[in-house]
Amino acid sequence: MSDFESLDLLPSIQKALRNKGYTTPTPIQAQSIPHLLEGKDLLGIAQTGTGKTAAFSLPIINHLAKNSVKVKSSHARVLILTPTRELASQIEENIRSYSRGLRVSTTVVFGGVGKSPQIKTMKQGVDILVATPGRLLDLMSEGYIKLGDIEIFVLDEADRMLDMGFFRDVKKVIAKLPKKKQTLLFSATMPDTISSLATSLLVNPKKVEITPQATTVEKIDQSINLVAKSNKPALLKSILAREEVKSVLIFTRTKHGANRVVTQLEKSSIQAAAIHGNKSQNAREKALGSFRSGKLKILVATDIAARGIDVPHVTHVINYELPNDPESYVHRIGRTARAGREGVAIGFCDPEELKFLKDIERFIKMKIPVDVNHEFHGVAGKPVPSRAPRPAGRNSRGKSPNKSNEPQSTTPEKKHSHKHFFRKKKKGLVK
Ligand code: AMP
Repeated sequence: MSDFESLDLLPSIQKALRNKGYTTPTPIQAQSIPHLLEGKDLLGIAQTGTGKTAAFSLPIINHLAKNSVKVKSSHARVLILTPTRELASQIEENIRSYSRGLRVSTTVVFGGVGKSPQIKTMKQGVDILVATPGRLLDLMSEGYIKLGDIEIFVLDEADRMLDMGFFRDVKKVIAKLPKKKQTLLFSATMPDTISSLATSLLVNPKKVEITPQATTVEKIDQSINLVAKSNKPALLKSILAREEVKSVLIFTRTKHGANRVVTQLEKSSIQAAAIHGNKSQNAREKALGSFRSGKLKILVATDIAARGIDVPHVTHVINYELPNDPESYVHRIGRTARAGREGVAIGFCDPEELKFLKDIERFIKMKIPVDVNHEFHGVAGKPVPSRAPRPAGRNSRGKSPNKSNEPQSTTPEKKHSHKHFFRKKKKGLVK
């Protein structure tokens, strides 16, 4: 008997879970599902990777299947609002698999694709509508979607909505929802804006908090490679050539950076694709599809595009550029070690990124071991501005006197603290 059987879910749902190979509810599922089945509001502090999609989807499907009613044209009974197209598709896919065999209809609405099929489906009315804010408001203003019959509202990744500038849109959507409803709000972090929204939106909510540190960070084999910026491409290539590196997600801070990494790899005949906000929906889906199927080994992504990417077999996450926001680090490395698997996260840190590394370590409350065995450890490639200011023409390609790429450290241990790097940097031994 699986632990799921102790939850009061319909036999068809239990069967779907068994078919998916889920045996035990994840902590967020175990803590949320009983309250949600009772119709309570929920504040879930959790990121993707914790099993939160099933945590909210299963009780929703259960409720709809047990209380079947004919949905009016243009209406839906449940609205799940989520920031990205990828996340929306993924949620819809999950709901379809959990509700197999039940008379529960689901559809997804997002921008970047034609409206006609979405309008056609909405004409029938649908039980569960998964949507991104922009297209939803668009179709609402044209009268194709009406929110007056919503019984359950899920606001997913509220903090990311804020980051992506969707907050006003989210508020416009909320204003159109009926007063009486069950509301679920999920957010990985709780900035003040989100916590005031939660206060105004939720009625006596149950609060479930799943800290990313406990769920993912400790399971991941993390390391930092201290490397000069100019040596990052060569270091990346040498890591990608390692046998154990089978499926890799590479992160950059910017869209431009992601494109640059792909171009550099392609020059060395290494196939890779980038996903970010400037790519068309088709290009993103194609790249993600090939990556998911295993055809494409390397995917390069920015934080926003990668949020919610759920590819179970990612063996390595490489932070080609460290994020300036420590929470993004946790989200990024959480793309590996999905659903209980183990994973490896390698961060590249050039001297200018040491401040980001410090913030990350403070945030995750642990020191990330430094790998001193890679061939580009601490090798200078480019002068550090504080010691040798760049010429006025930005991005000088100035090479340092040390072009030999020889390791400068002779420290015997494989990994150690990066304190010595800070010290050496201060003394000017490492550039
Ligand atoms: P999510 O946080 O919803 O993105 O889920 C993360 C991953 O965990 C997805 O691949 C789910 O399919 C998987 N998952 C969710 N719940 C369970 C469970 N109880 N047992 C095993 N895998 C799960």
